[in-house]
Amino acid sequence: MGWKFNLSLQAAVCLTQNRSVGNTLPTLDYIPGSTLRGLLAKNYLDQPGRSVDTQFQNLFLSEDICYPNLYPQGARVIPLSALTCKYHPGFGTDNKAHGAVDGVLPWLRDLLTNKAQLEPSADYCGVESCRAPLDRLSGYYIINDNREEQQVAVRKRLMARTAILESREVVKPGALYTLEVLEEEQEFAGEVSAPDNIIQQLQEFIASHLHGWIGTARSRGLGKVKLSMDEENDDRCYPMAERLSGFNRKLHGDGRMSCFSLTLESDAIVLDELLGYRSRPLISDLQMAASTPEAEILNNFELLAAWTRVQRVTGWQAAWKLPKPEEQAIRRGSVFVYGLRNGGQTLIDNQANSLVAFLTQLEEKGLGERPTEGFGRLRVCDEFHWENERK
Ligand SMILES: [Zn+2]
Repeated sequence: MGWKFNLSLQAAVCLTQNRSVGNTLPTLDYIPGSTLRGLLAKNYLDQPGRSVDTQFQNLFLSEDICYPNLYPQGARVIPLSALTCKYHPGFGTDNKAHGAVDGVLPWLRDLLTNKAQLEPSADYCGVESCRAPLDRLSGYYIINDNREEQQVAVRKRLMARTAILESREVVKPGALYTLEVLEEEQEFAGEVSAPDNIIQQLQEFIASHLHGWIGTARSRGLGKVKLSMDEENDDRCYPMAERLSGFNRKLHGDGRMSCFSLTLESDAIVLDELLGYRSRPLISDLQMAASTPEAEILNNFELLAAWTRVQRVTGWQAAWKLPKPEEQAIRRGSVFVYGLRNGGQTLIDNQANSLVAFLTQLEEKGLGERPTEGFGRLRVCDEFHWENERK
């Protein structure tokens, strides 16, 4: 059993990522964990007589709680390794689309066997009459009741606005700009991880503070949201050991156990030893993220392959009324595969157990900086890479 935050948009919402991009302000298509935390913290401090007291510190500043990114309908991010028909993009659950595949296993098989050519499924569209080249599929998906991937759309629209000349409170000549907004009546959700007593305090607090405002242009009627917390039983996920063996079984076609993948569910800020930003996590970064005795097993592994992008992370520090310093993150949806240093090897039983124990810890702790704001969430051997070959 886990707990989820649900946020429903009661008005249109604009969450800008970059300050000033020409005359259009684009919006994010999800609610970042830092925005969720900021909303709750503001509601808390707006109560008469409340200040930054012990309960505030427990709820908003403690390392024990992780405020998740909220994705549309609680969906997952489509991994960067997903490929689809260039001309009819989308999963097979969409009638107009030609379906999708995941590039991780075909690419790894190619790498590990030194084949000259990539498997056709990762090269061109699987529909006989089409055979178009493949392109990346991006966005969000859920797993439906038939265990098939289904894309989740985010509804947006543009709103034209005029800037006001503050000194005279009249329209500033020539200053027309456009806001991109998330449309009202959409639901966003994400799983929260925290000890029971914190969950209970949060529930009580939210029950008496259901509403709040997020994003820009609040004075123009944008940004009203309603919050709730619900218990959810996600029985569609396999336990760690099954995911690890499922991934390796599909990769090698036998009982060999030599690789694991990490898929980022949120952006991850990973620093190197000189406090620069990494674009891919090294074995030592994983060992640092979950420093258990089992971390030693990772000394046998190396980074084999990566599907990755980096991006800037900006934000607004409401308490200081200042922009947060800009950081560089490895983008959500990035996939990293680590394998035994000596390709043909396999893990023996107790080594495989150590790996499962370590990866369970790693998934719980996450990777890199600012974990309480939802950064660095990851999933090991995600079903997306191995369960349905054609999607
Ligand atoms: Zn096609």
